[in-house]
Amino acid sequence: MAASFIDKARITVRAGDGGSGVVSFHREKYVAAGGPDGGDGGRGGSIVLVVDDNMSTLMDFRYKRKYAASNGMPGQGARKSGKDGQDLVIRVPRGTLVRDAETNEIIKDMSGKEPFVLCRGGRGGWGNMHFATPTRQVPRFAKGGLPGESHDVILELKLLADVGLIGFPNVGKSTLLSVVSKAQPKIANYHFTTLFPNLGVVWVDEGVSFVMADIPGIIEGASEGAGLGHDFLRHIDRCRLLVHVVDVSGSEGRDPVADFDAINEELEQYSPDLAQRPQIVAANKVDIMEDPENLERLRAHVEAQGYTLMEISAAAHQGTRQLVGKVAEMLSTLPPVTVYEPEYVPRPPVVDASAPLDIQRADDGHTWLVEGPWLQRLIGNVNFGDYESRMWFDKTLRESGLFQRLEELGIQDGDTVSLYDFEFEYQR
Ligand code: GDP
Ligand code: MG
Repeated sequence: MAASFIDKARITVRAGDGGSGVVSFHREKYVAAGGPDGGDGGRGGSIVLVVDDNMSTLMDFRYKRKYAASNGMPGQGARKSGKDGQDLVIRVPRGTLVRDAETNEIIKDMSGKEPFVLCRGGRGGWGNMHFATPTRQVPRFAKGGLPGESHDVILELKLLADVGLIGFPNVGKSTLLSVVSKAQPKIANYHFTTLFPNLGVVWVDEGVSFVMADIPGIIEGASEGAGLGHDFLRHIDRCRLLVHVVDVSGSEGRDPVADFDAINEELEQYSPDLAQRPQIVAANKVDIMEDPENLERLRAHVEAQGYTLMEISAAAHQGTRQLVGKVAEMLSTLPPVTVYEPEYVPRPPVVDASAPLDIQRADDGHTWLVEGPWLQRLIGNVNFGDYESRMWFDKTLRESGLFQRLEELGIQDGDTVSLYDFEFEYQR
C-alpha cells in the first residue's frame, strides 16, 4: 500500500512572546547610587514559511499540528538585552496555499523563493534603563513583553505546473509523462493506479522547458466527488495548458468521442474556468489501433471545436516529440502560471476593553504605568507606522475610559502615560 498523498492540513502556529524588561541599577564599589541599567527583553521568535523543493506533499503536517517559536529572554542588568527567541522555519512544498482557517481566505501563495513571515514574534518589554529622564532618575519599573501572534491556518497544496494531463484512467497519461520527462510515475494496466500527482520537467530545447503534471484519472462523477479525480482536479487549476489524452485504440471498447466529451463535462462541472483552458488533444495508443475510423471521428469532433489533435503512441514513443514541440509553441503564447493574490486582510483582534486596567503612579509622581491583558493584546497588534492602525488604537483607548480614570487619579498635563513599550505625554 502506497503512502497516502496528503495535500491539505490544518495547523496552529504561534510566534514567541517578547521577554520582559528588568529593573536593575548600576552597582559599583564606591559609587553610591548608580543609574538604572535594566535591559530590554528579547523579541519573540517569528513563524517563517519557506518553500522546500524536496517536499512534494503535506504529509509532515498530518501528525504534527502545532508549531510554536520560542519566547524572547528577559533582559538583564548592565544594560544587557535578553536574547531574541529563535524563529521557527516551517518548510512547505512549492505551490502551498496558506489560508485563514476561519474564512478560508488566501493569506499567501508559497510559490516563490521569498520566505514569508506568517506570525510575528512579540516585542520585548523595556528595561528600566529606558525610563530614565532628568526628572525621573530612579525608575523602579520595567515592562512585560508583548504576546506573539498566533493563527489557525489551512495549508493546501496546489501544484505548480505549466501543463496538466487529463483523461480517463488507463489512457496512457502516466506513460506519456514518463516518456517525455524523467518523472517515474507508476504505470499499470488497471484503473486508478496513479494515486499521487506527479510532476515532470520536460526539456524542449536549450533553455526551454516546462513542467507537466499527471494527476489521478478523472472519472465520470468526479466533479461531484464520486471518485478520486475530484480531490486532484485542483492540482491542475494553475496549469496554462491541458493535454487531453484519449485512447483511440478501441482496445477497451471505449468510444473516444464520448470519452472526450465526458472529461470536458467533468471539467466544466468542477470549474468553468478550467474547462476554458487551452487544450491539445493527444490521441494515444495509435500503435494498437484496431480501426482508424475511431481516430478520424475524434479528429473531426475536436477540430470542429477548435482543438488541435496530435496522434501519438506514448508506449512506442511515436509522435511524442512533435507533441512536446506543439505544447512548447503554445505555451510561448500563453500567460504564466497563476500565482494567487492574498485575499486575507489581517483584522484587529476583538479587544474587550471593558476590563479595568491596572494603573500605578511611579515614584516620580508624573509617570503613570498602565497594564492589563487586553491592553497588552492591543499594543501587540497595533502597527504604529500605519495611520488606520493608530486610529483604531486611539479609539479603543478612549472608549475604554482610561483617560477618565487617569483624570480622577490626578494626572497632570505633561505627565507621561506608559503602556508597555509605548509612552506618550498626556494632554487634556
Ligand atoms: P494512465 O492511467 O492514464 O496514467 O495510464 P498508464 O500510463 O498507466 O497506462 C495504462 C496502460 O496503457 C499501461 O499498461 C500502459 O503500458 C498502456 N499504454 C500507455 N500508452 C500506450 C500506447 O501508446 N500504446 C500501447 N499499446 N499501450 C499503452
Ligand atoms: Mg496514471
